[in-house]
Amino acid sequence: MYCWDSYLNERSTMKILLLGPPGGGKGTQAKFLIEKLNIPQISTGDMLREHVTKQTSLGIKAKEYMNSGALVPDEVILGMMHERLENEDCKNGYILDGFPRTIPQAVGLDKLLEKLKQALDAVIVIDVKDDNIVDRMGGRRVHMASGRVYHIIYNPPKIEGKDDETQEDLLIREDDKEETVRKRLEIYHNETSPLISHYKNQNIVSRINGELNISDVSQEIEKIINLN
Ligand code: AMP
Repeated sequence: MYCWDSYLNERSTMKILLLGPPGGGKGTQAKFLIEKLNIPQISTGDMLREHVTKQTSLGIKAKEYMNSGALVPDEVILGMMHERLENEDCKNGYILDGFPRTIPQAVGLDKLLEKLKQALDAVIVIDVKDDNIVDRMGGRRVHMASGRVYHIIYNPPKIEGKDDETQEDLLIREDDKEETVRKRLEIYHNETSPLISHYKNQNIVSRINGELNISDVSQEIEKIINLN
């Protein structure tokens, strides 16, 4: 019998871009995909938060942009991603989560992929309405060290306020406050959603309803990958 898991193993060189508003479930879905496909999740948000925690010069520069909900400048992000995608663990594919976020970043990624002789296999857009995002972000809790994301109602940890694997404390991100979330959504509509047209020409874009429950969204994503 040709089962889903063996199919996925054969397809483990997939390069997937998850696109969608902040708090729309990209990180949560990426975590499922890394287990299924055995490829890394590359989240610029997680990478930047690590720089902030370690107080590197990049982190010190990025922190103010991040806390106010603004985007970190394109050249900083592109430099960071250039290094990351050349890493050995990216040879077998990866899931991009939160990058690219602007047209200049997408153009930079196109050039980088060309240099690496790679191409994206799928761009999956997870659509969620703004008011639902604000609602979701208010309940979001994060395990900072791993990037694991929970929600007090939709995806609660086994023990309240604690990470399932390490039992360490879960935190509310500074940029999950309503005013900051509204600003991030405005930036998403103005700067990031034009990427959907950018990738439409490559015929790799699929859109899914991110307002379904988490496992239904996962199933939709699996269907898309299966078809590609
Ligand atoms: P995220 O965890 O993806 O929601 O990212 C958190 C914050 O990090 C964003 O609000 C931005 O300030 C910054 N950030 C993450 N990825 C990018 C990116 N590709 N371009 C610019 N800023 C980014």
